[in-house]
Amino acid sequence: MSDDTFDTIIVGAGIAGSVAAYILAKAGADVLVIERGNYAGSKNMTGGRIYAHSLEKIMPGFAREAPVERLITREKISFMTAEDSVTLDYHAKEKNNPTEESYSILRGQFDPWLMGKAEAAGAQFITGIRVDDLWVEDGKVVGVKAGGDELRSNTVILADGCNSILGEKLGMVKPISAESVGVGVKELIKLPQDQIEARFNIRGNEGVAWLFAGMPSNKLMGGGFLYTNQSTVSLGIVCGLHDIESSTKSVPQMLEDFKNHPTIKPLIEGGEVIEYSAHLVPEAGLKMMPKLCRDGVVIVGDAAGFCLNMGFTIRGMDLAVASAEAAAQAVLQAREKNDYSQASLSVYEKLLEESFLMQDLKLYNKLPNLLGTSRIYNEYPQMVSGIVSDLFTVNGRPGIPLRRNIMKHCKKVGYINLIKDAVKGGRAI
Ligand SMILES: Cc1cc2nc3c(=O)[nH]c(=O)nc-3n(C[C@H](O)[C@H](O)[C@H](O)COP(=O)(O)OP(=O)(O)OC[C@H]3O[C@@H](n4cnc5c(N)ncnc54)[C@H](O)[C@@H]3O)c2cc1C
Repeated sequence: MSDDTFDTIIVGAGIAGSVAAYILAKAGADVLVIERGNYAGSKNMTGGRIYAHSLEKIMPGFAREAPVERLITREKISFMTAEDSVTLDYHAKEKNNPTEESYSILRGQFDPWLMGKAEAAGAQFITGIRVDDLWVEDGKVVGVKAGGDELRSNTVILADGCNSILGEKLGMVKPISAESVGVGVKELIKLPQDQIEARFNIRGNEGVAWLFAGMPSNKLMGGGFLYTNQSTVSLGIVCGLHDIESSTKSVPQMLEDFKNHPTIKPLIEGGEVIEYSAHLVPEAGLKMMPKLCRDGVVIVGDAAGFCLNMGFTIRGMDLAVASAEAAAQAVLQAREKNDYSQASLSVYEKLLEESFLMQDLKLYNKLPNLLGTSRIYNEYPQMVSGIVSDLFTVNGRPGIPLRRNIMKHCKKVGYINLIKDAVKGGRAI
């Protein structure tokens, strides 16, 4: 640091902020991270499961040391109506390839560990202080204003999460729209470890990731999720913000009803709710991507809208890690050239273009549109449940051919709708 000027100030000690701090500090840069929460992770939420690949690249073998909860070996997807559910259950052995694994995590433990890694590499952290504004001179970002102080830096990395108010003030991030985000609420439910293993049919360190479409989000865009941790279960729902206004139920009520569903109730019975959290989740993919760099500043993670809701899984944390890595590399190259202009920092955009992140965002660009189809949350769970229910009902009346059973339920959705959605789905994936 020269003349009290940091190489980089990072706003936010979430996954993106701490990973960027770790890489920069390891390379010898003077890094200050400012986090408004009293400790890293205190304000952060995820479903959640982290796909290991991007962090594995930066910290090989991290899962041996990090406070990960369970290795996900069981994937479940359910269509759920008010009365029943139809579930696809995929169980596999450990992959024995760390880059292909995923783990359930709790941010209240994982984020402080990540911050600790960055601190050990030499980054400084201030917690419990909010960055109120960016310090801008002649159109260039030259630092931040926080806690009544002005702190100077050559670059600022905005890692302040979904709804980046600072990015919006700079004109980089578009004002948040109800169509571009979902609201997530989650309960952490404590249960004895042996009961988790028995109820979810897992052994040792194995874990379950389970997504639900239909009833949990009151048939609106969104869904339910469940992840098993060591001795807790993360149970929650996400609902598109634009749908909430017209919803007949509040979001907390949706979660309450989800907990009382006959499929879920026995799984959490006797459990104690030890944490309740709510958070926004970016859902519009490339459509909500901001301007990624300006003179002296780059924007990463959820603040840049880097999150992929793929319907069968949600990915934000591996994207937060990858964008933080690209931003840190760009800042290091700018430092070498002593040029912190937008042109110099645009290396960040180039690195993102080359990474899986931008390629996946482009590949799944049409998914938000597909997932906006209301039939996915209403008619289709009813259709699947109807077909399966009829299939397993034996009541002494003569049976009908399977083909006619399927057609009966498809007809309720409408053949034209089915064809339209199949085409839309085909195009989206
Ligand atoms: C309900 C839900 C379920 C999800 N499930 C999954 C999942 O299973 N898998 C997955 O990969 N992703 C999931 N995600 C997405 C994932 O959680 C995010 O993509 C990820 O947390 C983004 O990390 P980040 O570091 O960019 O932002 P955040 O984790 O939000 O961190 C931002 C940090 O900035 C701080 N901050 C904000 N403003 C300021 C300020 N002005 N001054 C100082 N500090 C500030 C905040 O306190 C916070 O610590 C889920 C999200 C939600 C809401």
